[in-house]
Amino acid sequence: MSGGPLPAALRARVDRTRCVGAGMCAGVAPEEFEVDGHGKSRPRRPVAPASADLVEAVSLCPMEAIAVFDAGSGRPVRLWGDERPVEGP
Ligand code: SF4
Repeated sequence: MSGGPLPAALRARVDRTRCVGAGMCAGVAPEEFEVDGHGKSRPRRPVAPASADLVEAVSLCPMEAIAVFDAGSGRPVRLWGDERPVEGP
């Protein structure tokens, strides 16, 4: 992780054009993600605590399809190893 401590609450977003439905996110963080009937992942709740499972799901996604944002400020949050350009929500 870079950029300081994680916010306490995060808002996750799945880029469904990238997601291939591999389900790794739902496997490591079943409280946070589910693969829907279209074979794409989606967050299970709008705001989630910044848990180790959520961070692991983001880092394990083979398509780098999951982005997380500070639930308070809406700012993008970079996680360790995440080299994608930062985009707005
Ligand atoms: S790990 Fe990534 S590609 Fe796989 S279902 Fe989750 S968001 Fe989609």
